[in-house]
Order: sequence, then C-alpha cells, then structure tokens
Amino acid sequence: MKSINDFIINKKNVLLRVDLNVPVINGKITEKTRIYAVKKTIKKLKEQNNKIFLISHFGRPKGEINKIFSLKFILTTLEEEFELTKIYFLETLNEKLMKETIEKMQPGDVCLIENIRFNEGEESNDLNFSKQLSKNFDIFVNDAFSASHRIHASIVGLPKFLPSYAGYSLVEEIKNINIFMNNSKKPNLAIIGGSKISTKINLLYNLIEKCDVISIGGAMANTFLSAMGINVGLSLHEKDLKKIALSILEKAKKVDCKILLPLDLVCANNLQDKININQCNINNILSNQMALDIGCKTIKEISSYILKSKAVLWNGPLGAFEYPPFDKSSVKIAKVIKRISTSGISTIAGGGDTISVIKMAKAQDGFSYISKAGGAFLEWLEGKSSPGVDALKKK
Ligand code: ADP
Ligand code: MG
Repeated sequence: MKSINDFIINKKNVLLRVDLNVPVINGKITEKTRIYAVKKTIKKLKEQNNKIFLISHFGRPKGEINKIFSLKFILTTLEEEFELTKIYFLETLNEKLMKETIEKMQPGDVCLIENIRFNEGEESNDLNFSKQLSKNFDIFVNDAFSASHRIHASIVGLPKFLPSYAGYSLVEEIKNINIFMNNSKKPNLAIIGGSKISTKINLLYNLIEKCDVISIGGAMANTFLSAMGINVGLSLHEKDLKKIALSILEKAKKVDCKILLPLDLVCANNLQDKININQCNINNILSNQMALDIGCKTIKEISSYILKSKAVLWNGPLGAFEYPPFDKSSVKIAKVIKRISTSGISTIAGGGDTISVIKMAKAQDGFSYISKAGGAFLEWLEGKSSPGVDALKKK
C-alpha cells in the first residue's frame, strides 16, 4: 500500500475520501475527532499545491438527495479547523460544474463535495459512477479507515481508476491496531464488554488466539453465565447463543487463553432503578432483578490482570454505563489504565460506547491509542480484511 507520506504529490487534482460523519445534536457538532484526524493529510496535500476535493458520507440518505443529510453545515467548522479562509462546496457532481470549480480554484484550495450517499451509485458500488467521478482527477487518497469496511464506490471503486494512496490517519489506525493484533507485547489482555455476544462472536474467536487473558463483562457476560447454568434472572442475555458461548470457552481452553468471567454483579430491577441496587455473587442473582454492572471483586480481579499485562485492548463497556451507578466499573477500569499509563504498558481502545466511557472518566490521555473507527475497528480485530485497504494494496 502506498502512503502519501512516501510520495510527493504536486499540483494534482486530488479526490480525498474522509469521514465527516460526525455526531450532531441540535445542529451542533458534539465530537470533532474525525475532523482532527484528517488535518495532517490535508495540510500535506495543500502544501504541495494540490486542488483537494473532499468526499464523505453523512448519515443514511439511501441514494437520494435529502437536505437533512446535507454536508453544507460542516463548511464553517472545516474552514476553522483546517485554517482556510474559504472552502468551496459542490452541491452536485454535474460535470460542467465540476470543471468550472476546478478552474476557479487555486493550487492548495479545498472543495467539499456534497454527501456522496446522495448518489445511488455510491452504496451499490457502481463502477460507472466511480469512473465518472474519477474523470477530472489525477489521484485518489483514502483517509477514512472508519468507512473502509464498506464496499462502496468512493472506497473501493475509485482506486480502480486512479493512482491511489493511503492518508496519514488511515495508516496510523492500521499501524496501532496491528501493534496489538500481530505484534503484541506479552502477556496481553483483552477486555471485552457490551450488550451482545452476537455482535462479537468472531471478535472473541479471533482474540482467543492472540491473547493470554480475555476478560468478559457487560451483558455479554450474562450469556456466558447462563450457558454455564447460572440463573441470571431478568438480565439481558441471548438464550439462543448458549452453545456458541460454551464453544468459545472450550476453544479458549484448548489454546490456553484464560477467560475471566464476572465473580460478582451489581443488579437492580431495571435500568432506571436506583433504590433496589443489590451487589451479589454470580450465584445469587434475584429472579426479579437484572445484572447491570460487574461488581467490586470483579473490578479488582480485572485491575490486577491489567497491572500484570504489557498490552491491553479494550472494547465494550462492562456495564450499562449510560445509567449511573452502572457506569462504575467501566469508569474505574478507564482510570486504572490511565494511572498505569506511564509504566510502559501499551493500551488500545475502540468502539463508540467505549470511547464515551473513557471520556466520562477523563482518561483519554491514558491510552496509547484510541481508534477513531467503530465498525471498521471491530472488523479488523475479527481478522477480516478491509475492502478499502485491500483496494489500496491492489494499486
Ligand atoms: P462499543 O460501542 O464500545 O463497541 P457496544 O455497543 O458493544 O460497545 O456496547 C455498549 C452497550 O452495552 C451500552 O449501551 C451498554 O449500556 C450496554 N451494556 C453493557 N453492559 C450491560 C448490561 N449488563 N446490561 C444491559 N446493557 C449493557
Ligand atoms: Mg456501541
């Protein structure tokens, strides 16, 4: 895979795929990490006098123009963050308009193309669409790792028609995830939580082969406990996945990967219940209660394994963190990782909710790396290839 770091790209018309699918509440961007992530690539392309056209998706307009999903609102933020006085905006991919805009722009100027998913050909990965889009350009750069698990025209189609390069943040994501997956310091520990095993079966199977210890928390752990014959009361769990849970435990035994399941749990009648909170051993879950967080003994056990590890990967909150006090274990674990961050341990985290918890704990700077990708991060951990990265490699 060619990285823009290794090449001079000078005075070219560049199509740059970025991920500007930022979270927005009441018209305000609440989280700008994905914007910051592409700054370095834009800076380099700008300094080397290229005309830069940004492509991104935003939401799910399903191949139709829908003003609700317009990217126009993000222009002023991009101008501020990229320190540009003006960013051009292309409302449609009309070729005449495209040519006129390229003519108008000076070397180093940037133009944002309207939500690429307004075009039917994007998600259907229509080759003609990619070909048409590539027409007035010399180079394609992909700096959107978080969208690279999608077989879409702006991810896998464009590299078929243009010399293609990986941007800085894409290279950075892969490098950091691979440090854990292929090159991990030992002993290593994966902490996996979240609500459902069903979304993380392949992840668990793959991690078992790479890790010395895996700690399983969150509602996922309930499915394992239930499979082992423990009464989990009203806890969220997946009845039809008991066999899979047992086979994961069996495989772990075979390859000598230690699985830590909760020793104790914090239970309540429901997510909002703040009165009937009951910390108990796993064998004493009341039949009218649900396990909403892991308990103190379990937090202690996980912490002691973190201290013994040289590398830690974390995906998935260990409790229903959106409903305090069931955020306690996740916040505590984030703080433990922050506290030992200077001891030479390498720590990586990813997943939308995991990042929210780490922020709640104000522990972001305690991690060696936090992935900016959600689904793409998980698929990479599953050992799946990334269509976007493969498309760059083929060039
Ligand atoms: P990420 O986005 O970091 O990959 P997931 O989406 O897999 O994480 O899981 C996060 C969700 O899991 C949260 O909404 C959280 O409330 C839920 N969760 C964790 N533990 C429990 C539990 N014991 N009961 C119910 N929901 C839980
Ligand atoms: Mg999530």
